[in-house]
Amino acid sequence: MMKMQSRTILEKINNNHEIQSSVTIVECYVCGKGLADGHSISAKTLSNGIVLFCDVHYSMQ
Ligand SMILES: [Zn+2]
Repeated sequence: MMKMQSRTILEKINNNHEIQSSVTIVECYVCGKGLADGHSISAKTLSNGIVLFCDVHYSMQ
């Protein structure tokens, strides 16, 4: 179930530039910043699941 929810979020990120506010909060796993702060958020699949990173921290992984 967790993976399905994460996949739904990922698809929303890929398909829609703007995330609907009704969706689970999309924010960086590291710093907690999100689209509202002017950051682009990217999802990355790790061993423990899909994690979201801002543009800064995504490149640091
Ligand atoms: Zn970050």
